[in-house]
Amino acid sequence: MSKFDFSKCPHCECEHFYRQKDFNRAIGCLVILIGAVFVPQTYGLSLVIVAIADWILYRRVADMVVCYKCREEFINIDIPERITPFDHHIAELYEEPE
Ligand SMILES: [Zn+2]
Repeated sequence: MSKFDFSKCPHCECEHFYRQKDFNRAIGCLVILIGAVFVPQTYGLSLVIVAIADWILYRRVADMVVCYKCREEFINIDIPERITPFDHHIAELYEEPE
């Protein structure tokens, strides 16, 4: 899998991919929520702490690659430079007709 060059998706033959952080935003939100719960006890300090924790967590996670068409996620791989972050215009090409 690490030698995969992203010329074509192995599942749907799509030739477009985008990169994004392999980070579960729901967990990030949960962490912030926990910080909010302890605001009265910590005089707001808990929010600062969880914000920093969230930021560190976000910076530590690696990028992953996602196929525009089938949304297959590719993690723990070497990402070629040409794979760019999500592009709305490319995504429109693969939007399912209603
Ligand atoms: Zn695909």
